[in-house]
Amino acid sequence: MMQRIADVQRVTVREEAFLPEPRALFYSVEVGEGVRELVLHIAYEQLPWMHVFVRDPQGQVRVQYLGKHRPERLVLSEARERCTIGCPAGAISAGTWSVEAVVYPPREAGAWLQIDIDLQSGGGPGAEAPESTLPIAEGVPWLTSTGEVAVDVSEAAHREQRWYKGDFHMHTLLSDGKQTPGQLSRLAAERQGLDFIVVTEHNTVHTAWPRQEGLLAVPGVEITGSRGHFNVLGAREWINIYDREGRLTLEDGAGMNRILAAANAQGAVCSLNHPYLAPWDWRFTDTDMSLFAAMEIWNDPTYEGNAEAAEQALKAWDRCWARGIRLAGIGGSDTHMLPGDSYTPGGTPSIVGDPATYVWSDGLSPQSLLDAVRRRRCYVSRGPVLSLDIRANGRELRPGDDASEPARLWELAIDYTLSIESFAAASAVKPDDILRVVWIESGRAVRVDQAATGIACRFTASWPAGQYRWLRAEVRTKDGELLAFVNPVYAYPIEPLATVWKQVSG
Ligand SMILES: [Zn+2]
Repeated sequence: MMQRIADVQRVTVREEAFLPEPRALFYSVEVGEGVRELVLHIAYEQLPWMHVFVRDPQGQVRVQYLGKHRPERLVLSEARERCTIGCPAGAISAGTWSVEAVVYPPREAGAWLQIDIDLQSGGGPGAEAPESTLPIAEGVPWLTSTGEVAVDVSEAAHREQRWYKGDFHMHTLLSDGKQTPGQLSRLAAERQGLDFIVVTEHNTVHTAWPRQEGLLAVPGVEITGSRGHFNVLGAREWINIYDREGRLTLEDGAGMNRILAAANAQGAVCSLNHPYLAPWDWRFTDTDMSLFAAMEIWNDPTYEGNAEAAEQALKAWDRCWARGIRLAGIGGSDTHMLPGDSYTPGGTPSIVGDPATYVWSDGLSPQSLLDAVRRRRCYVSRGPVLSLDIRANGRELRPGDDASEPARLWELAIDYTLSIESFAAASAVKPDDILRVVWIESGRAVRVDQAATGIACRFTASWPAGQYRWLRAEVRTKDGELLAFVNPVYAYPIEPLATVWKQVSG
């Protein structure tokens, strides 16, 4: 059906003057009665990084977009099956809407941004859907038009206590990734054998996610500024990254602390992403480290510079532990690409689940997984599947546990056996390779064992009562390349010392 021209009213906003610092720019748009759909045409030049957000008269975010340096057409509709990803369906209420553009300073002169908004009253069921240049949001609703995440965090796919394999960091077409949500989910479940994924787009939250047999998908967001990124794992609400004056909260240290506190108040787990991967390393020197529950020690191992960045992150992690900041160490593929794509010609593809984080969880629900991460019950691996038998005075422990409970007054006999059970399919290392297990006690490598698949490595220690200690293990190739690391067990914990990033960043 052709739309009559009278059904469409076009409003245009255009910007050609940009300040030298990043800002949010606001434009008001009056929407009359009877409008059922907004179609946004976005075009710009010379802006290195930009977002468009649209808020309805109730103040809720109804359009979320990250610029892809090409003209784009987005649809926000009352009908869910017509909405572009990032745009939560719901009433298009009459009143003053706000079009908000987050812009970083232009690279060169001549930058411009234009947004044409078609207010359509002729749409609705049966009418031909305006074609979006991005995929339609398909699947189970996530972000609602009231700004809340519509996921039952306690709903469990499994109730069994065991290791669950997943990935905490990834991107799709909603931000700057190349895959659709459906493609990413199928790859995660069918090829990589993951039990869960946390979807973490740059400053945007998916409005829906397709169901995939055997895979739990958890909403998240990667708060992404020019001086650092962190993941909100288990996001429950939209997170503001700028204030009503247009100042970008995520561009200053105090503002970033406020965003971290807001994410914690939602019940989410905050994870410091790739802290040493320049130019996306963490540069907010005064970040209160107690606002993080986790650190992404290992970001995409196929990306140049990340092998060294992971080694630096391991050291910073130990420095945090030395100050009583007992962060969980996790991994994230940070995958952006199509399944076969690699960052280096002929290199290992950058793919979801590389590395994988194994989480010892009471079940497979968002809540139980996040609780387990808070308890540091994790190991991270590029292939080795580990069997861990950890005991303190005979009591069985998991990674992340306090060995001194409940016998706080006694010397502790630590007995830790690590075996490489098998190798996950598609592992970069052959299972018959000679490997090393490195034992790190209170931040110092104290022993290296030769290892191979099926051979157990055992470490015993006697820890005096009352002294703070922690012990963790790494699996490496004989050349020293990292293959896996396990979160520490500890005893007689000190109270966390007030710590900001510069005290532990080295
Ligand atoms: Zn990322």
